[in-house]
Amino acid sequence: MSLIVSKFGGMSLADVDSIKKTAEIIRSDSSRRYVVISAPGIRSGDEMRVTDMFYICHARYINRENFSEMLTKIEDRFTSIVQALDLTTDIHYEMMDLKKNLFLGRTNDYIVSRGEYIMGKIMAELLGWKFIDAAEVIYFNKEGTLNRDKTIAAVKEVVSRYERAVVPGFYGTVSGTNIKTFERGGGDVTGALLALALGADMYEKWAESTEIFSADPSIVKSPSIIRNITYAELRELTYMGISILYDDVILLMEHSGIPISIRNIHHSDDKGTLVTDELPPDSRRDVAACIAGRRNFKVIHIRKFGLNKLVGIGQKVFGIFTRRNISCEHYLSGIYQFSIVVKNPMFDLKRAEIVKELQDAINPEDIEVQKDLSLIAVVGQGMGTVKGIFAKTFDALAAANIKVRLIQQGGDDLNILIGVYDEDFEVSVRALYEAMILQ
Ligand code: ASP
Repeated sequence: MSLIVSKFGGMSLADVDSIKKTAEIIRSDSSRRYVVISAPGIRSGDEMRVTDMFYICHARYINRENFSEMLTKIEDRFTSIVQALDLTTDIHYEMMDLKKNLFLGRTNDYIVSRGEYIMGKIMAELLGWKFIDAAEVIYFNKEGTLNRDKTIAAVKEVVSRYERAVVPGFYGTVSGTNIKTFERGGGDVTGALLALALGADMYEKWAESTEIFSADPSIVKSPSIIRNITYAELRELTYMGISILYDDVILLMEHSGIPISIRNIHHSDDKGTLVTDELPPDSRRDVAACIAGRRNFKVIHIRKFGLNKLVGIGQKVFGIFTRRNISCEHYLSGIYQFSIVVKNPMFDLKRAEIVKELQDAINPEDIEVQKDLSLIAVVGQGMGTVKGIFAKTFDALAAANIKVRLIQQGGDDLNILIGVYDEDFEVSVRALYEAMILQ
């Protein structure tokens, strides 16, 4: 029997109806054997996710403010779910336990992880499946990074003992009792780790807004939805701010070759988007899959005659940025020029000292900081090898009267990166969409 690990986000568990619907989706395919869940998300008429409520509780406790009211709201929310579903999970006991731990000085991470923990117990009871506390299987190192090997071993050892189980997402442990959470929305990482350790045939992510459009719908009218995409393409889109999945999740699945299926809880019959290493034969394309971009980059151009012959220029330049923890997002070099693209707002704060240090280190003829640059990626696996693709890209931009400020083709033939002024961003995206995707 094939094995699917499914992760359900907060909106799939926000109220009784969505919880019932989620249980129905899980039961509708017997391959869905391990389920990772989030804490309840925002209900209609509500303004907060349960995780946010826990964050507030802890902050109020630390600041010696009244936190009981918020705690009672959380208890009421879980109690109403349990009662409506006719279950026996003892919410009052869980909340008393949480309060005790709050007084004992347990960390913020511990407190906020209780949303997933309690919801996991409820879902396990509803499905009649085994509940496995994430603290038994997800391990972090002392300095806070994921202990992947220990986690994989623990999931193999503990989870695979059961044919079906519910595991809360978002947290794990440093040492058994010391709870640590992933970044916000990190339940997906838990899901991917389970899929990896259990050798799943598929990792499913169920959420509320899951469409991956071929261009930003706020810029392009009714862009098409991408049904098949490769891991590498999705990584490029993630870099451009399309936040469907964390990079870590994509990489974990990419390295293990486990397909990711991105599904929408409101349209459970829709197959959603499938992420794989190679596109299935019937969905191969020799054109771009998507146009995506971001504004507000800066380019630092360093100009000096004979720059290409100077040894160690790159090391000097990168060193100056590295010491300030500013990432050089892209760089381009020529015989006369070395250009660094940055996004980090820290650059603006440190700009004068960075320029001075570059001047002292390289003694260039000129340093220019170009602001307000947008980067647009034309993304499509294998696209770089298609004849005439560059001509088409730049013809489209020329026809729209766009001044191109920067061009880079990724070494993996996956994208063409184009820099334009921020004011030309939207017109460029539309022009590229029409030429490269609509055609
Ligand atoms: N409940 C957590 C959050 O709100 C984690 C998650 O949903 O994956 O960020």
